[in-house]
Parts: sequence; structure tokens; C-alpha cells
Amino acid sequence: MNALQTFPPTRTAALERLARFVPHAGRDYAARRNYDLGPGRHDGVSTLSPYLRHRLLTEEEVLQAVLGRHSHKAAEKFIQEVYWRTYWKGWLEMRPSVWSSYRAGLIQRWDEVQTQSGLRHEWEAACRGETGIACFDHWAQELVQTGYLHNHARMWFASIWIFTLRLPWELGADFFLRHLLDGDPASNTLSWRWVAGLQTKGKNYVARASNIAKYTEGRFSPVHQLAQGEVAPLDGPPHPPRMDAPTGDSFDPSLPTALILHEEDLSPGWLFDLGLKPVATATVQAASDLSPLQPAPHVAAFKEAALQEAADRWADRLGPVTQGLSDAGALNAWARDTGAVQVVTPYAPVGPTAALLAGVDALPLRRALRPYDAAAWPFATAGFFKFKEKIPRLIADLKGLRAA
Ligand SMILES: Cc1cc2nc3c(=O)[nH]c(=O)nc-3n(C[C@H](O)[C@H](O)[C@H](O)COP(=O)(O)OP(=O)(O)OC[C@H]3O[C@@H](n4cnc5c(N)ncnc54)[C@H](O)[C@@H]3O)c2cc1C
Repeated sequence: MNALQTFPPTRTAALERLARFVPHAGRDYAARRNYDLGPGRHDGVSTLSPYLRHRLLTEEEVLQAVLGRHSHKAAEKFIQEVYWRTYWKGWLEMRPSVWSSYRAGLIQRWDEVQTQSGLRHEWEAACRGETGIACFDHWAQELVQTGYLHNHARMWFASIWIFTLRLPWELGADFFLRHLLDGDPASNTLSWRWVAGLQTKGKNYVARASNIAKYTEGRFSPVHQLAQGEVAPLDGPPHPPRMDAPTGDSFDPSLPTALILHEEDLSPGWLFDLGLKPVATATVQAASDLSPLQPAPHVAAFKEAALQEAADRWADRLGPVTQGLSDAGALNAWARDTGAVQVVTPYAPVGPTAALLAGVDALPLRRALRPYDAAAWPFATAGFFKFKEKIPRLIADLKGLRAA
């Protein structure tokens, strides 16, 4: 099965997957979530990430479905994982220069790959899964073929990339971003930084053969193949000063309005609930800006099909739809032609879509922030441990919303 057969880019597929997973979100998840049993056997986890990443399914929907079936206590582990995503998004929103520094570092590393044949050879071997470390080679190939890796495999892979193969972390993060269907500027960059020891200063994640053997149920046992003993974390600059969390823009729904839909939020129903009646809609494609290299065909295809599906799903609310604009010039020309006086778009967090939208200036651009993000992001001030304490309160607000 190819990536899009395993992960059909539709909301229906996302809802079916959620329905199958919900009964297992409690005790089963807590017991089985750390086991990576290989492609086709990832049923200890939800595999919802490509859908959550593009909000074909929202975090709120997932949390509400799970809490409709389990107590908070029973599903605590799963709920915390969903909030890891929210935490990373909030953390990066308040320190956006961490993304630009990653991008600048990546361009430098990419120059080095092109000019240093030794590095190029090692980088190619790692990306092709030809290093001779069986588990690592398997995960490289699983990622390229399926667009997904189990969380534990991502941790082991990143750790081996950085500390055993001694390759630059930015090139590994880029390899993930170009191939993961859920590739996300916040979750991916900050998780790679976390493994490297740059995110939680001085604390790195070191993959051990015994841990891999245990949680792959003996499929792999890379004894004597991994970095051994004390493995020092990477060194890097301190975190940049924290900015305020974004609050988003309000908009007047009675004005003639054009809507921009993008891959960061493909569930625009909440905007229609606020009274939005677009005179026209454009969808944007920023996938080619994920990396200096081309993203894998399945990544671009997933995003394109998901955007198309969202536009079809909401066809009766969108007005005429212009598909797949990929530069600010085209968006500005489109906006001027719509006859609207403002453009509304779901807030795009740090990443290529936000960078593209920053060039839209033909009309006032109103970035509407979901209440879910507005409530949670300001708490991502420090580590996850501190953020985690706020989860019960955030959940209580969700329940309030449901009852309202
Ligand atoms: C090096 C590295 C890179 C990663 N890159 C990404 C990425 O680009 N995009 C991405 O969505 N996740 C990323 N993750 C986090 C995590 O591995 C995936 O979200 C998870 O494996 C997705 O599988 P699932 O849907 O079955 O997760 P489940 O265990 O079922 O969790 C449910 C949901 O919670 C969220 N989630 C779970 N764990 C994490 C986590 N540690 N951090 C953030 N969100 C989490 C995801 O949205 C996931 O769909 C990365 C982790 C590491 C270690």
C-alpha cells in the first residue's frame, strides 16, 4: 500500500480512523503506545497525525470523542500527547526566530552537502537507508514509502542520525519534513531539537540497543552499533526572548469578504459559525517552501487532495473557488478581483503558509485564531511539565464549549 492508500486525504477517512481508535484511547493506549511493531501494525497508537496536522480533524474533535468514551484519568496519556502538539505550536509562536534559525542553518548545511563529497555520501546513505544499521535503514525506508513513523522510531532515528552517524540535525529534520505526511514546522523542528539537547538545554535523547529491542519486540537489536556511554548533547545559542502569544484578528462578517483556505486548517466551519459568507475563496499551496529540496510526491499529493476535498466539502459556502495559488502576487491579484473589502483566513502558525500570507496586502488580511489555540498557546511559556498542569483547565473549557 502506498502512503495515500494508507492515509486517504479525506475527512471521512479521518473520522473512520478516529471511530476505530476511540475505544482504545484509554488503558490500551497507555499500555501499548511505546511499541513500534512495524508498518501495518501501528495499532497501539491512533495514526491520526496527518489528519490533525492539516485539521481535517481538529484537536477539539479528537479530545471530545475520547472524553465521550473515557474519563480524563483513563485517557490521560493520550490527551497529553494531543496537547504536546498544541504545546509545540504555542512554544514556536512565541519564539518564531527558532524556525528562521533552523531554516538558515539548513541552507548552510545544504551548501555543505553540495560541496563536501564525504558529507554528501553519508547523507545520501542515511536518507536511502544504506548505513548498515538495520533498524535505522528500515525506518528511513518506512518513512519514504509510507509517510509515517511511530513516535519511538522517530526518537531513535533522530538520535542515531545525530549521535551515531554524526550528521547535522537540520538535515535530519529536513528529511523528516520532506517525507512525513504530518510534517509540521513546530512538532518536527522542536522534537529534533529536543533529541539533540538544544530544546531542553543539556538534556539529549540517546537511543539504546536494549530499549530498541524491547519496544520493537525483538525486531531489531543494534548491539554495539550505536553511540555508547556518555553522549554529550549538542551545544547551541540560548532560546530567544519570548514574545506574546498571538491573539488573532477579529473581522466584521457583514463586509464583503474573501476567504483564503490553507493546509493549516481545513475545517473552516467555525468561521461560518461566526457569520462569514465569503464572496470568493482561494486555496493556497505552500508545500514547495517546506525545504530547499522538493517534498516527497506523497506529501505534495496529500496536501493538494486534502485542500481539494475541503473545498468540495464546503462548496455551498465558499463562493467561486480558485485553487492552489502559491505566491503572494497571485493571491493579491485574486483578492483585488473578488470585489471584497477584506480577506479572512484561519490563522496560519509559523511556517511556509504564514510566510506566504505575510505578502498578502492588496486588502486588509484578518487572521482568525481558533479559540482552542488562543486558550492554550499562552501557557507554552516554559517546559511541557508546566504546560501540562493547565490541561485540566483547558479540557474543562472544551467541555463548556460542548455543553454550550
Ligand atoms: C524527531 C521527531 C519528529 C517529529 N515530527 C513530527 C511532525 O513533523 N509532526 C507531528 O505531528 N508530530 C511529530 N512528532 C511527534 C510524534 O512522533 C507524532 O505526532 C506521532 O508519532 C504521530 O503518530 P500518532 O498520530 O499515531 O500519535 P498518537 O500517539 O496517537 O498521538 C495522538 C496525536 O497527538 C499528537 N502527538 C503525539 N505525540 C506527539 C509529540 N511527541 N509531539 C507533538 N505531537 C504529538 C499528534 O498530533 C498525534 O496524532 C515528532 C517526534 C519526533 C521525536
